Amino acid sequence: MGSAYDVIIVGGGAAGIGAARRLAAQGASALLLEASSRLGGRAYTQDLGGYPLDLGCEWLHSGDRNAWVGIAEASGFPVDRGDPPWAKAHPSLVEDEDDQEAARKAYGDWEERLRTVASASDRASDALEPDGAWNAYVRAIAGFMSGVAPEEISATDYLAYDDASTGKNWNLPLGYGTLVAASLPPTTALRLATPAQRIELTTDGVAVTTRAGTVHVGVAILTVSTAVLAGDAIRLPSRLDPWREAAAALPLGRNEKLFLEIGGNTAFGPDTHAYGNLRDARSAAYSIRPNGWPVIEAFLGGDGARILAEEGPAAGFSYVSAELAALFGSDVASAIRPLAATSWSRMASIGGAYSCALPSRSDARARLARPFEDRLFFAGEATHPHDFTTAHGAHDSGQRAADEALAALADRQRLGRRGPLAAAGARTAR
Ligand SMILES: Cc1cc2nc3c(=O)[nH]c(=O)nc-3n(C[C@H](O)[C@H](O)[C@H](O)COP(=O)(O)OP(=O)(O)OC[C@H]3O[C@@H](n4cnc5c(N)ncnc54)[C@H](O)[C@@H]3O)c2cc1C
Repeated sequence: MGSAYDVIIVGGGAAGIGAARRLAAQGASALLLEASSRLGGRAYTQDLGGYPLDLGCEWLHSGDRNAWVGIAEASGFPVDRGDPPWAKAHPSLVEDEDDQEAARKAYGDWEERLRTVASASDRASDALEPDGAWNAYVRAIAGFMSGVAPEEISATDYLAYDDASTGKNWNLPLGYGTLVAASLPPTTALRLATPAQRIELTTDGVAVTTRAGTVHVGVAILTVSTAVLAGDAIRLPSRLDPWREAAAALPLGRNEKLFLEIGGNTAFGPDTHAYGNLRDARSAAYSIRPNGWPVIEAFLGGDGARILAEEGPAAGFSYVSAELAALFGSDVASAIRPLAATSWSRMASIGGAYSCALPSRSDARARLARPFEDRLFFAGEATHPHDFTTAHGAHDSGQRAADEALAALADRQRLGRRGPLAAAGARTAR
């Protein structure tokens, strides 16, 4: 491959596409390398049973300040600003109302206690009530939010997201993944199925090697997940070890989805929600007939997602079918059939759902987001100070990294060979 680009972007998810959009808007040329054969990364809409279902991100969280809303509207994608299904309990389940109220209160109390824990051990499990009646529920919700058990969650990090969220959760009926994948500017050069295998430092920038050859470029933006960065799929100079260590302090949790198709007439109400079992930390949250479609989406987090990852999709389907039969009656078992199961934690180019800081390691986000010598810039959901775990946080981090890269290129042009890279001399990869 040649070297006719200002910037190389590694990774074509929401962050990489956010970076590409900013670079294109500023007239900089960019080459985007994507390991898989499609764009979008953890934003992925698939046509399943004739419906555009989101296997990864689905909700425009903090919709009133989410950049993807503006992008959607500018591109003619409809945005549904209605309440999400989890605001509407399924009408046939009202008998659980008292328990649901008690469980929700226990979760709110736990979140309040996180504030004290944040300035002490910072381990979110320390905010659980000893033998608390609703600890399983708290664990399940924390699992949906972070993909891990409270023992592995930094209280500071958890609260940073919560405090910044506006609580508006909007939806894209054509799919969040559809929008993200459609949003790469036409001027960005794209190589799909072309993983970056090695990144080296050169006298005047970086060299990125793929199986198609090596590209020399002034600056690169890395947007791969923390699991990929901390792993060994990309060979990086040892001077980047502090960035890899920061990535390791922000591991990806487990969150997976199972989709079931509803056949025949059933009592499933459209656009409603149900929670499997308030007393089981593995329990799934069910989005029932989203957009009126004959589909149930089961969302599993932490311990629940572990069933899928460790025992496979058949075990996952039998777990959620049993939960649905317990909720809606054994008749529903014959009316639902498996449609699809995700396996984010098994995908080598992703490696999990979204990042969660380990206790006392919430500072790793800022350390991961630091530029390296004005030639390598880091983006991706994990680098956002408070909108981490989301597609809009990923987008905004890409725009931030693009601004940093553009500033570095402008400085270099202004300073000519006396610029910071030239001053660094012939530093090469070790
Ligand atoms: C089940 C699930 C539900 C979710 N729900 C929501 C939600 O409702 N709302 C929300 O906002 N967010 C949600 N998220 C999170 C959201 O999807 C992510 O935070 C966001 O999409 C991450 O974008 P990213 O660009 O940082 O990373 P990624 O999407 O992981 O993009 C990184 C890209 O880099 C590529 N790559 C990896 N290695 C290489 C390499 N060597 N060379 C080149 N390319 C490489 C990958 O293939 C990938 O395409 C959900 C995620 C999951 C898994």
